[in-house]
Parts: sequence; structure tokens; C-alpha cells
Amino acid sequence: MERISWDQYFMAQSHLLALRSTCTRLSVGATIVRDKRMIAGGYNGSVSGGVHCTDEGCYVIDSHCVRTIHAEMNALLQCAKFGVPTEGAEIYVTHFPCIHCTKALIQAGIQTVYYSKNYKNHPYAEELFKQSGVRVEQVELDEMIIDLKNHEKLEFVSMLIQKLAQTGTTELDIRQLHEQANQLFTSYS
Ligand SMILES: [Zn+2]
Ligand SMILES: [Zn+2]
Repeated sequence: MERISWDQYFMAQSHLLALRSTCTRLSVGATIVRDKRMIAGGYNGSVSGGVHCTDEGCYVIDSHCVRTIHAEMNALLQCAKFGVPTEGAEIYVTHFPCIHCTKALIQAGIQTVYYSKNYKNHPYAEELFKQSGVRVEQVELDEMIIDLKNHEKLEFVSMLIQKLAQTGTTELDIRQLHEQANQLFTSYS
């Protein structure tokens, strides 16, 4: 079996964290890594003990939800709370950081930012990263790697298509089904 890369491993962790998000507008996850070890993680959610956007709706001011602490901030604050140094660390985030998080990440000494999806990438955030010598790299998550049944699913679908072909389904339909299945099961790598 193929071994998962560090980049994919940490990015998968951030995507997992995003599933814990309590804001209905966007689910973001962030993992801070040092020497190939996860030192903190966060997702966007309310202050501990506070009401959740998922229960009471977002608290929107100037088209931003002000109830939530961003995933990157939560991860950094976890380090602050438990006294874990962030100098020279890396962060894996599901979405390109906002300007506020960008500033906090730079100031906390984060050296590399890996992000999965472009999200309202602000030119000022990009400029700040550049200015501070922070490396920014896009790492798209290959979702197949976290689907442990991917191989079985692929075999099942191809078996179904083969059976369909025997029932007199037109060749054109079969070809289309093949293409659709291929698109679904093709990985990034
Ligand atoms: Zn919200
Ligand atoms: Zn942010």
C-alpha cells in the first residue's frame, strides 16, 4: 500500500478539524506542525461555552460573522494557552487565511503556510506574507487517501457498469458512465 505524504497527512487532519466547525458560513480547519509533529489544531467556532452559530444563526456585522474565532487563531491560542512555541512552525489550513489571521501567523513566527483552497485571497495578505518571508504553498487534499474503502468502491462501480453492459444498455451510455466513474475516482496525485 502506498504511504501517505506528510503534506497530505497534515492537510487531511485540518479537513477533519473543519468538520468540527460550528459556523454555518464556512468550515475551516488548521493544524500547526513543528518537526513533523502536530502541536496544535483548531477550527472556526465560538468562544468556549458560548452559543453556536449552528444553533442560533451567525452574528453578522458588516457581512462578517463576529461570533467565531478563526481556525488559525484557535490553533495559535491553544499554543499560547499551553505554552508551546510557534517560532519556525508550519501551519496547514483548509482555506487561504484572512488578513487578521495572516498578521497573527506572521507575528507568531509561523514560517510556512500550506493552504488547500483559495478563499477570497486578499492581495494585502499575500503581500504581508511575502514581505515577512513566509512561504505560502497550496496543497490540495487528495480526498481518496482518507476514504479507506475507496478501492472497494471503485471495484464495485466497475462491476456494476460491466453488468449494465450485459443488459443491453447502449454503448454510449456505458461510455458516459465510465467517464463519470473515472472522474469520481481519479486522484490528484
Ligand atoms: Zn457564524
Ligand atoms: Zn482568519
